[in-house]
Amino acid sequence: MARRQETARGSMPLKELLISKESTAMASFGVRDLDTMMRFAPRRYVVPAPLRSLHEVNRGEEVSAVVSVVSLRDRAMRSRHGFILEVAVSDGVEEIVLTFFLTKQHQLQWHRGRLPVGARIIVHGTVGFDDYRQALQITHPAYEPVEDTEEGRAWAQRPRPVYPLRQNIAQATMRSATEKGLEFAGSLSRPVPDEVIARRALPPLEEAARLVHTPLTVEDTRHGMAHLRYEEAFILQAIFAQRRGQDERTPAPVLAAEGPLQGLFDARLPFTLTDGQCAIGTRIEERIGNSHPTSVLLQGDVGSGKTVVALRAMLRAVDSGHQAALLAPTEVLAEQHHRTLLTLLGDLARAGQLDGHEAATRVRLLTGSQRTAGRRETLLDVTSGQAGIVVGTHALLTESVEFASLGLVVIDEQHRFGVDHRRRLRTKGPAGQSPHVIVMTATPIPRTAALATVGDLDVLSLRESPGLRAGVTSFVVHEKLPKWEQRMWQRAAEEITAGRQVFVVCARIDEDDAADDAPAPPELDENGNEKPPTLEPARGVTQTAQRLAERPELAGARIGILHGRLTGEEKQEVMAQMVRGEIDLLVSTTVIEVGVDVPNASTMIVLDAERFGVSQLHQLRGRVGRGEHAGIAFFDTTAEVGAEHSQHLRRIAEAVDGFALAELDLRRRGAGDLVGEEQSGLQRTLKHLDVMRDARVIEQAREDAFAVVAADPDLAAHPALAGAIADRLRDADPDVERS
Ligand code: ADP
Ligand code: MG
Repeated sequence: MARRQETARGSMPLKELLISKESTAMASFGVRDLDTMMRFAPRRYVVPAPLRSLHEVNRGEEVSAVVSVVSLRDRAMRSRHGFILEVAVSDGVEEIVLTFFLTKQHQLQWHRGRLPVGARIIVHGTVGFDDYRQALQITHPAYEPVEDTEEGRAWAQRPRPVYPLRQNIAQATMRSATEKGLEFAGSLSRPVPDEVIARRALPPLEEAARLVHTPLTVEDTRHGMAHLRYEEAFILQAIFAQRRGQDERTPAPVLAAEGPLQGLFDARLPFTLTDGQCAIGTRIEERIGNSHPTSVLLQGDVGSGKTVVALRAMLRAVDSGHQAALLAPTEVLAEQHHRTLLTLLGDLARAGQLDGHEAATRVRLLTGSQRTAGRRETLLDVTSGQAGIVVGTHALLTESVEFASLGLVVIDEQHRFGVDHRRRLRTKGPAGQSPHVIVMTATPIPRTAALATVGDLDVLSLRESPGLRAGVTSFVVHEKLPKWEQRMWQRAAEEITAGRQVFVVCARIDEDDAADDAPAPPELDENGNEKPPTLEPARGVTQTAQRLAERPELAGARIGILHGRLTGEEKQEVMAQMVRGEIDLLVSTTVIEVGVDVPNASTMIVLDAERFGVSQLHQLRGRVGRGEHAGIAFFDTTAEVGAEHSQHLRRIAEAVDGFALAELDLRRRGAGDLVGEEQSGLQRTLKHLDVMRDARVIEQAREDAFAVVAADPDLAAHPALAGAIADRLRDADPDVERS
C-alpha cells in the first residue's frame, strides 16, 4: 500500500525548488514540500573509515586517506570492452594506485576531469592487491576534493546520510535534494514554540535540519534527530491535549445510578469477580459518572474478563436511563457478543417477554445482513429506547441509526477503530451530549506507547486471567521440512480423533485470484533496503480445504470453510455448526480472529503465518485452549529455517503474555507502524518516534504540549502548531475513509 501524504500547509513545493530528478525521487516517498523533506530523516549514516597514512595500511582494510594525484594512465581492456584508469596518488611518504574499470569513454573523461595532477583529494575505499604489479591498490574508491586543513579533513570525514531508496533513485539524488533544501531551512514552519525548544535544550529547527542532513559528527545526528523526535511527539500530544480539552467542555450523560440491573446481574454471576475486575469496575464507574465524556482503553489479554467488566458498565448506563452500544469489528463477532450477553443476562435481557424479569431490558443485535422485517423492529427498539443494549458492527456509527439516548459505547478490539472513529461517536449522544466510550483491546501496549498513540484515552489494564484456562503452546512449522509439516497434520488428526476441533487459518480466500494475495512484509538487508521476496504465494481457503480433504491423515474428518465471501447467513450457519461440533476442521480466513468461542477447539494452524501481524497471531492462538483442553498453535511458514520471518515467528511462539508480546512487537517495528497495517488513524503515521526508546521524550512532550494547549486552547497564538496538527490529522484521515 502506497503511503499517502499531502503537502504540508503553506510549505514550499519541492517542484519549484529542485530539479525534476530530485523532486521525483522525493515524490516517490510522498515527500512533496520543503517542510516534509527536511523532516524526512536518513535511514542511517555511514561514517568514513578512519584517516590513515598510506605506509600503515594493509590489504583488506577499509581506509580513508588524504592524498594528491601524482599521475594518471588509462588503457583499453583486452578481454572486455572498456578502459582501465590507474591513478597514482601519494600522501607525501607512500604511493598507491587507485584503479577504475570503466565501460564508457565519457566516464573516463569525467574521472580525468576531477583528478588533475596535483589535486588534493580524500579517498575512501578498501585496500586490495594487484597481483600483476605486486602492489597495493584501491579499486573504485569514493573520492572528493579536500582542503588539507583540520576543518577540511573533518568535513571530508563527516557521516554521510543514507536515505531509503526506491527503484532507480541514487543516494546522491536524495542528498543533493536535501542539501538544496537546507538553503531554505530558515523558512521552515516551527510548530513547537521557541521557548519550549530552548527549555528542553534542543537545537532550533533550522540547525536541527542541518545536523540531520549534513552532520559533521555522529553526535550531530543525534542532536538533530532529537529535535525531530521531540517535535513529532509534541504535535501528537497537542492533539491529545486538544481532544481532552474539548471533552472537558462537552456535556455527557451522567451514568451514576446504582441498580437495579447491575446489582441483579452481580448477584447472579456464576463466579466472583477478580480483584482486578472490581478495581477497574470502580475506576470506570468514577469516569462514566462524570458529566463530561470519558474515553477509557480497557486492555487485557484474551480471556482476561474484559467483557464482564464492560457489561457491568453498560448495565449502569441502562440503570441511569440511557442506552449502551457494543460494537465489534465483524458481524460474526457481533453475533457472538449478542449471544454471550443474552446468556450472561438471562431473564434480565427479556423485557416484555413472559419470562422476563420486571427490571429487564432488551438486548438487540443490529447488523447489515439482517432481513428487513427484523431490522425494522430492532431499529424501532433502538429509537424508542426499549433496547437498553444494542450490539452491532461499526457500521452502526456511519449509518443513520438514531438512538433514544446513547450514554455509553463499548468498542471491542480497537484495531479497526482509529482515534478518528471514536471522535465520530461524539455526535451520537442525546441532545448535544456525547456518550462515554470504553475501548477494549486484547493487544495491550506499554504505557508510553499508549501515551504516544492513544494519549486521549485513560488506560486501564487487566493483568490477571480468571478461571481455568488450559492455555496454549505455540510452535513454528517449516513447510519446507516435510517431516514437520506431516507431523502437524497428524497432530491435528489426533486431536480430531480425540473428539476435539481444529482451526486452519489462511491469509486469503482463493489462490486463483491474484489480487487476493496478502503479501508478507518484506525482509530488509543490512542497509535497510527491501530484499527480493523469497516466499511462495499465500495458500487460499478454497484450495487448502481441497488439499486437506485428500490427506490420508485427515480421512473422514468433517471439513468446513468460512470466509468473507460467504453471506452473513452462511457464515452464521458454519459457525453454528462449528460450535455444535458438526465440523471437525474449519478452514477460514481471519474472520475468526477475535472473540470467536469454541471451547472444544484445541488446535490452531495458521498457514503462511508471516503474513499476519503479531497481535493477529496472538488473537488467533487465543481461540484455542479456552476450555479444559490444552491448546496447540502451529505457525506454518514457507520461509527458510533461520530466515528473518522464521525467527520472528519463533519469538512470537515463545512469548506467552500479551504484554510481553506487545513489547516485542514494538521493539521490532521501532519507529514504524505501531499497531499494524490494519490500524487506522494517527497511530500509523509515527515517523521518527520509537515508542519504546523515546519514552522520556514522549513524557516531556506531553507535559509541554498539555501546558501550551491549556494556556491557549484554540492555539490562536500558535498558528504553526495549529497548522501542523491539521496536517497530521489529514495524514491520518485517508485511512479512516478507507476502512
Ligand atoms: P475477554 O473479553 O477479556 O476476552 P471474557 O470477558 O470474554 O474475556 O472472559 C473470558 C471467560 O472468562 C468468559 O467465559 C467469562 O465468562 C469468564 N470470566 C470472566 N470473569 C471471570 C471471573 N471473575 N471468574 C471466572 N470466570 C470469569
Ligand atoms: Mg472478549
